[in-house]
Amino acid sequence: MTLNVDDILAPMKETRRKGDNLTLEWRLRQLDAMHLMITEKREDFIHALHKDLGKERTESIYSEILLVELEIKRFKKELRQWMKPKRVSYPGAIFPCVCEVQSVPLSDPCLIISPFNYPVGISLLPAVGSLGGGNPCVLKPSELCPTVSKVFAKMVPLYFDKGAFQVVEGGVDETTALLQHHYGLIHFTGSERVGRIVQSAAAKTLSPTVLELGGKTPTIITEDCPDDMNVVCHRLLGGKLLNAGQTCVAPDFVFCHRSKVDSFCKAAISTIEELFELKEGEKNKTSEFPSIVTENHAERLENMIKEAESKGGEIVYGGSKLCNKSCRYIPPTIVLNPDKDSVMMKEEIFGPVIPVIPFDTDDEAITNIHEIIPGIPLALYVFSKSKERYEYFMSKIPSASAMRNEAILQFVIPDFPFGGLGLSGLGSYQGKQSFDTFTHERTSLYHPCHALFEYGNLRYHPHTGTKGK
Ligand code: NAD
Repeated sequence: MTLNVDDILAPMKETRRKGDNLTLEWRLRQLDAMHLMITEKREDFIHALHKDLGKERTESIYSEILLVELEIKRFKKELRQWMKPKRVSYPGAIFPCVCEVQSVPLSDPCLIISPFNYPVGISLLPAVGSLGGGNPCVLKPSELCPTVSKVFAKMVPLYFDKGAFQVVEGGVDETTALLQHHYGLIHFTGSERVGRIVQSAAAKTLSPTVLELGGKTPTIITEDCPDDMNVVCHRLLGGKLLNAGQTCVAPDFVFCHRSKVDSFCKAAISTIEELFELKEGEKNKTSEFPSIVTENHAERLENMIKEAESKGGEIVYGGSKLCNKSCRYIPPTIVLNPDKDSVMMKEEIFGPVIPVIPFDTDDEAITNIHEIIPGIPLALYVFSKSKERYEYFMSKIPSASAMRNEAILQFVIPDFPFGGLGLSGLGSYQGKQSFDTFTHERTSLYHPCHALFEYGNLRYHPHTGTKGK
């Protein structure tokens, strides 16, 4: 069945034509509907996340549902204030004036295209921004999480009017059809490859875009890293193994000072076994460890590990012999010294594979990291006791975000705008930044019309301020 996008957009354009979306009440109604949906249907979402990604209950709540709830709460609390016109100053020559800037909805309904890895969170977080900004929107969830996609398709019409929020299920064909139309904003999260496709399509309709893309995030364990390697490994691997490594800001590879390699590997193994109750040699995943999204994705990761093994990388933990692609299980795998030309050192890993590369000096690590990363990564993680050392790495390795002694906390800091830079993305969102992204700053000026204010006015020809005197 061909998708009739005009029919989908018509009720949303009608909402805009009537101006309902301009009001605070309309926006709060949508946010309440969203909150009700994720509260009343929470179990449906949790079940779907388990089916599609093997996510266990608490991970689904903490890494997806709770973040959406917090975002809704923030919008509901601040929206009235954010929507108020703000007075700005003006040149004395046009005294007396009232100059204001007000954030208003964008030019058309918005389109949200989401990826498979956080299929609930990354679908609904931008939707909060869109609806809070007064923009009806269409969500196109990932076809790789068919159960979550179906839950959206079933639940959204129960909670939202067609003039506010709709879901279009499907893959390439459906997205291509949607992209033929003009939007107030296309919010795309996914791979760099598809980001380029979306950006080209958007150029044809002159639709603005936000692109949240991926990349290889470097992590550095420095010579003066904090003494408790167990805590270091909990922070680093807790982040890396969340959602089995299928996280855009997951530490992709680890540069480890040579003096710390042994203690890092030892603590990493005990952390993995403690966090997931995995036992070395087990071929099946525990119920705690998430699945890789499809068999094909699992096969890609298995091949990546096999290649590293065949090219002399030392398997410190896990390895290809434990992979079980028909169960979509890839074990946490630590590879020491992988060949620098292997796939795991060239492509975004997006799985529970941790390459560890020893280094001797900070500058050597910096040079090698530049060789590995083609663009600017989403994040840079440095484990160091020294603020100066962290700042040195930050000054030498550009990144969209950075953390010292932590990993992947970007989404839990409400005032952190989330977004990439260069090849890792374009534009940002989350909290107030989302409101700004999904609105336009409309300017308004009022000048009392009185002859008194015209005398000696420099603005008129011949700009000498003498006419009219
Ligand atoms: P993807 O690019 O394959 O797919 C994303 C969306 O695009 C899906 O909805 C899909 O249906 C659609 N799509 C796929 N091919 C298309 C085409 N040819 N034309 C039009 N639409 C198409 O991404 P994915 O595999 O679902 O997600 C993983 C990627 O997303 C990783 O690179 C990851 O780093 C990135 N990501 C980035 C962020 C971020 O916030 N920066 C967050 C999550 C994921």
